[in-house]
Order: sequence, then C-alpha cells, then structure tokens
Amino acid sequence: MDGLSGRTALVTGASRGIGQAVATRLAAQGAAVAVHYGTDAAGAAATVAAIERAGGTAFAVRAELGTDDDADTLLAGVAAGLAGRPLDILVNNAAAPPAGPMGTTTRAEFDRLFAVNVRAPYFIVQRALPLLADGGRVITVSSVATRMANPAQTSFAMTKGAVETMTRTLANELGVRRITVNAVAPGATRTATNAAAFAAPGLVEHIAGSTALDRLGTAEDVADVVALLASDAARWITGQVVDASGGLFLGPRA
Ligand code: NAP
Repeated sequence: MDGLSGRTALVTGASRGIGQAVATRLAAQGAAVAVHYGTDAAGAAATVAAIERAGGTAFAVRAELGTDDDADTLLAGVAAGLAGRPLDILVNNAAAPPAGPMGTTTRAEFDRLFAVNVRAPYFIVQRALPLLADGGRVITVSSVATRMANPAQTSFAMTKGAVETMTRTLANELGVRRITVNAVAPGATRTATNAAAFAAPGLVEHIAGSTALDRLGTAEDVADVVALLASDAARWITGQVVDASGGLFLGPRA
C-alpha cells in the first residue's frame, strides 16, 4: 500500500497514542512524516525509529503547544525538516485531556485547554498555509464529546466543538486550492498510554455494550480513518466531521 508515496505529512502529538498510530500509518503508505511532540522526546524517537525500521522516512519536531510561539516553533522545525518540499498533509491530533466538570474547573485550566486544543491548531494551520501544497489535506482530531453531552467534559467538548467549526469554515476557504479540510471524531479509544483509564471494573463492557460494533476502539482504528481522508480517494470529501467511534451511543441496541 503506497498511496502516499512522494507526499509529506505533519502529525502533531505523534509521540504516543492515536498520533503515533497516524504517523506510522501515513509513513507505511509512503509519506515522509514530521513527528511532533511536546515533552516526550523518547516517545517521538520511538515513533521515528519504528517508521524507519519499516522502511519509511520520518523526523521528530519539538514544540510545546499552548505557548505564544508554539506554531512558529513547530512550523520552523517542519520547514527545516522538509528542506524545501511542500507539506501535503497536516494532521492536528495533539490535545490536552478533559479538565473536569464545570463545578471544579479553574480559569487557568479552562484557558490552558483552549490554548492547546483550539488556539494551537488554529495558528498551526495559519502558519502551515504557505507550506501547504494545493490539493493537500487538513485533518483535525475531534471527539464524540461534541455530540455526547458528558457533564464531566464540558470545557473539553467546547474545545472540540470549536475545531469542528474551524473545519467547516476552513474547508470553504481552502477549497479553491483543492485542499480538503475534515475532522475525525474518535470515541473511547484504548491506547498503550491510556489503558489504565479503562481498568475500572465493568467499564470496558459498559462501553462495548453502548457501541454498535460492540468493542472499544484502537489507535489503529482511528489512524485508518485519518489515512482514508488523506488519500486521493477522499478528494471529494470536505468540511465533514467523520465519526470514528464504531457507533458509540447511537441509541438503544435492543
Ligand atoms: P495522548 O495519548 O494523551 O497523546 C497526546 C499527544 O499530544 C502526545 O503526543 C503529546 O505529546 C501531545 N500533546 C498534548 N499536549 C501537548 C502540548 N501542550 N504540547 C505539545 N504536545 C502535546 O492522546 P490520545 O488519547 O492519543 O488522543 C489523541 C487525540 O484524539 C486528541 O485530540 C484527543 O482529544 C482525541 N481523542 C482521544 C480519545 C481516546 O479515547 N483516546 C477519544 C476521543 C478523542 P507529549 O507527550 O510529547 O507532550
């Protein structure tokens, strides 16, 4: 499978979890991948090493998102790594986790969440635009939190709602350059690093029982959907939020 041969990609938050799976998947299809991370240099190095072991091309780029110069730092590193090549695929995956219910969230936590999950992807797109090839892809990882109304995640869901709105608006703006802009919304997705969060007795069974496809998602499940949107076959899909949850909470199953 080499549908992305000769292309380049940036995946934010690719030191672990879904971002690591997306970077690995795009590289397996032939893309040269910029593997972004914030603090986990060892994780990013492991992503790069896995890609190279499989015969692919990748380089790591560090930038702490949520800071004043995050997008400038990131895109300077990406441009240096691409060495004159354009960027074909931008995957905004990195995000901070839910900050808690409204009753206990502080202003500082709220501001931090919006700085990492909304302001950073917005300005990453802005700074990436001069580098982005016509016919390229912008894919942002959202969450089923925008449609599930979970009181433990109000501010987090608000950040994901914001990037879904950005997706529709940007799609309309960038379509003249044949750049498609979409979001992917995972549901409960077990990764190597969040496995402990699903350890509570009965939780996995409860989630599976509320999911049409009857199981938790994996990072690879989500990465495949991102890769689909990155492919030429998805050239006519834009401005969409594609659910990648296996049908979590679609309604009663019986
Ligand atoms: P994760 O395991 O927590 O990994 C997050 C990644 O983002 C890491 O590579 C981390 O890099 C990076 N990151 C986070 N904050 C950062 C910051 N301030 N600066 C720079 N990098 C930062 O996340 P995940 O579970 O794979 O989730 C990936 C995406 O899917 C997120 O957008 C998340 O909201 C969405 N999602 C996940 C689930 C799920 O069940 N897993 C469900 C719905 C939606 P460093 O560690 O190097 O800092």
